Amino acid sequence: MSKRNAFAEHDKPPSKLINSYDIDGVIFMGDKFTGVNPGPDDIIITGRSKDDRAETESMLLSRGITNPLYMNNKPGDFNDRRQSGLHKGMTLFYLEQMGYRIGCHFEDDPIQIEAIEQMMPHINVVHLKHDLVDKGVDTHENVVYNQTIPSY
Ligand SMILES: [Mg+2]
Repeated sequence: MSKRNAFAEHDKPPSKLINSYDIDGVIFMGDKFTGVNPGPDDIIITGRSKDDRAETESMLLSRGITNPLYMNNKPGDFNDRRQSGLHKGMTLFYLEQMGYRIGCHFEDDPIQIEAIEQMMPHINVVHLKHDLVDKGVDTHENVVYNQTIPSY
């Protein structure tokens, strides 16, 4: 099997159940604290914008973390916590269709947890509950907040 480049997707889905990790408030806990580290085949799904990829990769590399990194395809100045949660749900959905099996997703934001659980109720979303990292201020009003998410 070829060696995977840092942050690139796996060549094929891992044969074992894997876990998924949020960054801010989970892997990254500010300058004062060290967050959690993903296991070898685990993946990272962040609400951070793709515009912040370079900064995000260097932070992860400084921790020795090179797991597959799924960033949010949104403008850098756009922040909507529910949209971030739906992005994580969509990414988990896409990966499952590719044959991935996700055991747990580790997450600190209750708004995002609600969105992920609506989309992917069979995935265990583990809430790391704390206020050590700012969860960010929405720059966008999610006008479809009460939309019905289709189940599958
Ligand atoms: Mg977070």
